[in-house]
Amino acid sequence: MIAGSATRAQVKIEGTVQGVGFRPFVFRIARELDLTGWIVNGTDGVTIEVEGAAEAVGRLLERIQAVCPPGAKIERMSVRPIPAVGDSEFTIQPACEGGTKQLAMAPDLATCVDCVEELFDPLDRRFRYPWLSCTQCGPRFSMVTGVPYDRANTTMSRFVLCEACRVEYEAPENRRFHAESTACPACGPKLALWDVDGQVSAEGEEALQRTCRIIRTGGIVAVKGIGGFHVWVDAASEEAVQLLRARKRRAHKPFAVMFPSLETIRMTCTLLPGEAEWLTSPEAPIVILQRLEQTSLAQGVAPGNPTVGAMLPYTPLHHLLMRKLGTPVVSTSGNRSEEPIVTDEQEARRQLAGIADVFLIHDRAIARPMDDSVVRMSRSGPIVLRRARGLVPRTIRLPESVACHVEGPVLAVGGHLKNTVALLDGDRILLSQHLGDLSTLETEYAVRQAIDDLQWLLRVKPYAVACDLHPDYRSTRLAEEMAGRWDIPLVRVQHHHAHVVACMAERGVTGEVLGVAWDGAGYGEDGSLWGGEFLLTTYRESQRVAHLHPFRLPGGEQAAREPRRAALAVRWETFGAQGCLAGVEEGTEWGEQAQLLVAMLAKQIQSPVTTSMGRLFDAVASMLGLCQVASFEGQAAMVVEQEGIRASVSVHGEGDTYPIPLITRDEAPRRWIADWRPMIELMADDLRHGIERSRIAHRFHHSLAELIGQVAERVGVRQVVLTGGCFQNVLLADLARVRLESAGFVVLTHREVPPNDGGLALGQAVIAATQLRTGC
Ligand SMILES: [Zn+2]
Ligand SMILES: [Zn+2]
Ligand SMILES: [Zn+2]
Repeated sequence: MIAGSATRAQVKIEGTVQGVGFRPFVFRIARELDLTGWIVNGTDGVTIEVEGAAEAVGRLLERIQAVCPPGAKIERMSVRPIPAVGDSEFTIQPACEGGTKQLAMAPDLATCVDCVEELFDPLDRRFRYPWLSCTQCGPRFSMVTGVPYDRANTTMSRFVLCEACRVEYEAPENRRFHAESTACPACGPKLALWDVDGQVSAEGEEALQRTCRIIRTGGIVAVKGIGGFHVWVDAASEEAVQLLRARKRRAHKPFAVMFPSLETIRMTCTLLPGEAEWLTSPEAPIVILQRLEQTSLAQGVAPGNPTVGAMLPYTPLHHLLMRKLGTPVVSTSGNRSEEPIVTDEQEARRQLAGIADVFLIHDRAIARPMDDSVVRMSRSGPIVLRRARGLVPRTIRLPESVACHVEGPVLAVGGHLKNTVALLDGDRILLSQHLGDLSTLETEYAVRQAIDDLQWLLRVKPYAVACDLHPDYRSTRLAEEMAGRWDIPLVRVQHHHAHVVACMAERGVTGEVLGVAWDGAGYGEDGSLWGGEFLLTTYRESQRVAHLHPFRLPGGEQAAREPRRAALAVRWETFGAQGCLAGVEEGTEWGEQAQLLVAMLAKQIQSPVTTSMGRLFDAVASMLGLCQVASFEGQAAMVVEQEGIRASVSVHGEGDTYPIPLITRDEAPRRWIADWRPMIELMADDLRHGIERSRIAHRFHHSLAELIGQVAERVGVRQVVLTGGCFQNVLLADLARVRLESAGFVVLTHREVPPNDGGLALGQAVIAATQLRTGC
């Protein structure tokens, strides 16, 4: 090509564009369009220089955006014309190392369509090979051990490529060009079935067949996957599911289910718009779906629950097992409750000893625990309940006007429940995968490992560390330790401020918002347990403009596990010492305990003050007779929501509300207190009059949406953020949105970051960075 007659452009693309087959993809298009130039992996993404006929260059740019590989995510793309140089062909250049930040690293990707086809093609050399993958799919972050991202820095390094694999790996036009996870039966990981003593009882295809037989006959199998072990059992067998519940000591918490295909999901669940897309996406999360009335699933999968967490096979091993089984299986994380997922064979044998009958393992090490992500659709888009496999380590971008003031990298250690950690550097934030509740050493270890991960991924050392305001959180102590060791400032961030800012940062909001932060509990500025808060919020500060009428929780933390205690507290506040015991049977164990609790309330001992919306949900769950003692976090709120949804289906358009008057006190005339007591009175009336509890639950949700609308109208700030664990509730989120939008407010909810405490670290990092800046 003659340099003079050609157009040359330099294209910079940022986002998830490494480890997803982006370079071979561009290479193929460039060759097809007769263009020359090169592509290279760089600091923040890829750089392309392309030369040829102006029209062809334009077509290349169009196609990059229109049909980019499934796992890729283009965040920014800039194009500028540069002088032609006349290269002879289009090439893929080796990545320039040194100082390369591996920000563009991809999350683990579900097996792509091409690989599934090969998997079941008897003529293919990878026929029925459980670890086939290519540049478009396979493990990524869960196998990375260092930077830069190449095979030597992954847990695949010990598997030396055979000749056939090497040829593919080195051919730019091949789907496996630089596919670091590639392998074949000749050179890759192998499958084995272990008994509980760690003795190999079968290998390869035989291990697979035997696993299926064990599941079919009601056995429990621990299966090593991409990011850890899962425990599998036949989801259609009540007996098998109950056995798993007994062994896992998990009474009610729903189990996730893996289905053989989208068709089998349709036979069990109703699919709303967007849900099939999530299920079949490269992220392949668990999606919470509404269950049909009659299904083949055992009741014990999700007792009394109209929803089910469904997913599709996302590794070749899953595809092989599920096609053979042909029926749904329970696939639940192999761990003790709320701990990180187990990744190592020996650890699995130790932790899952009394649970699994056999272990289906392989010899590729897992570099870090990576649980399944969990997503739920609301009418206004997806809500990520758990952010892990498929979504981490995608970065989150801060708005320019906020990022320009950030002076250095900030590490944030999150909260206590559903812990994640975050590292902010410039305009980017990396939020770790879901790690678990920080009440055990296992989780603490995983948190420390995740902090190391973030640092080497971003290649920065924090210049400050942020934590929750709560003095007793394990995460707070961890932050204090790190601030001391590195001699850097420690910033303590109020829990609900962090919730609101997490949403603002993720959605790129600037300016002031009204943050509605509703959750179980977070340490308030006054030392009480906040949780039903309205905060006038900027990145730098927040002002409490409204909150629930405070009440005392007898027994403190214990109350969070016993909705009947919250109900007693709420009734005590509403009806006084005498009236609160109405309906509590005397002479029963609970009756006696309730008497004691009332005495505690009267004397204000061991009864911390709270404004928690989560506890108000608990109280309603108990009053409606839906849940008295919870066996998992969030259970009570979940059953109230489901009851409310039932009514919104049958009594369409039912919009009546209970009154929650807003009152002010002289000492704080601009702070409203949402007095829920009239609502509780009327609710008790409704119950007495035998009004259907689903209708009461629905009315309760409506009343809360109305409350949000009323507060927003008084505060008068146009942008309203809905955040905190309570907004995992889609009925509440949807009703609040409708109410606010009808009054002209702009409603902002989370998109990629959980509204629950899994998003706290993001907010903490941004607030600390903003507060620490000097000038402006
Ligand atoms: Zn593939
Ligand atoms: Zn090979
Ligand atoms: Zn929270």
